[in-house]
Amino acid sequence: MKAIRIHGEGDLRIEELLDPSIAPGMVLLTGGYTGVCGTDLHLYFESEIYPADFSQPATLTGATWPQIFGHEFSGEVAQVGPDVTNLKPGDRVAVFPYYHCGHCLACEAGHATDCEHMAFEGIQGRSGGMAQSKLVPAELCFALPEEVDLVLGALVEPMAVAWHGVNIADVMVGDSALVLGGGPIGIGAFFALRARGVEQIIVSEPSAQRRAVLERVGIHNIIDPTSQNLQNEVRQLTAGRGVAATIDTAGSPLAFVEGMQSLAVGGRMVTIAMYKESIPLTRSLLVAGRSIRSSVVYSHEDFRAVIDAMRDGTISLEGEWVRLIEFADITTAMEQLRSGGTMKVLVRTPVD
Ligand SMILES: [Zn+2]
Ligand SMILES: [Zn+2]
Repeated sequence: MKAIRIHGEGDLRIEELLDPSIAPGMVLLTGGYTGVCGTDLHLYFESEIYPADFSQPATLTGATWPQIFGHEFSGEVAQVGPDVTNLKPGDRVAVFPYYHCGHCLACEAGHATDCEHMAFEGIQGRSGGMAQSKLVPAELCFALPEEVDLVLGALVEPMAVAWHGVNIADVMVGDSALVLGGGPIGIGAFFALRARGVEQIIVSEPSAQRRAVLERVGIHNIIDPTSQNLQNEVRQLTAGRGVAATIDTAGSPLAFVEGMQSLAVGGRMVTIAMYKESIPLTRSLLVAGRSIRSSVVYSHEDFRAVIDAMRDGTISLEGEWVRLIEFADITTAMEQLRSGGTMKVLVRTPVD
């Protein structure tokens, strides 16, 4: 089979690999799509920012690099293991790529989303999205309803990242919120905030190209933080009060500070982004009962909620924020994504 594997920083290769064979508890997936995201960019361009040593076997999966690339993926079930009863050939699924141990301090405290030994399919996994045949545990497959196609299916994971972040922001119907960064996770945060009845959603995004896409998606309050004063704009839009929550999907220290300053009394800052530089957390930001909460991954409930939101159209492809590419385009797409010129990219799994 053809697969794209990452061998190290800056080293992605399209290769011919042996087909995996079916095993108990597992399913074989073919077809589908795989998303490329900010985490993939870190892995490819600056793998030191990702908190793992890829030369050592991952605790939960035993995986070392080279690794089949891509942790956001969908596929069609081609074969099921002898003991698998929840899926059958022909079913279309989104894969929940996250492994947790169940017994570390975080897991025991009910924070499985912050497991000390976390691993992902496509990063330190047994498989990954960018392969013609993917062997994955049946229990990690979420069946897609008829209304949700395989393109949307590959977006369940990144949309669940955003959904989880918004969940812990504790927003209510009628609230206002600020989203830092209008990339795919920022769009996901917009969908999740809208689903929760947040009335005023403000998105800050420095790229003009991305702002044009955000408009097409139906976002009305878009701010260019390079030419406008973010905090002033937010105060103006919220009658001086500030927002109940800021969702940081940008990872820029300056944006973080402005996002904190834009919070209302008792407001919550939720960090989803990875930060390359340290954040200047001065005392003047920690006032008025503001709090900071961190969100990295998602739960099964988030996956189910996102699939439901896709079924009812709350999350859609409207506004053409997703672009489909072929295996051969992968490195070009990585460069384009790094320069911020494009929005979401999904890689099509080749049929032959
Ligand atoms: Zn991702
Ligand atoms: Zn754990």
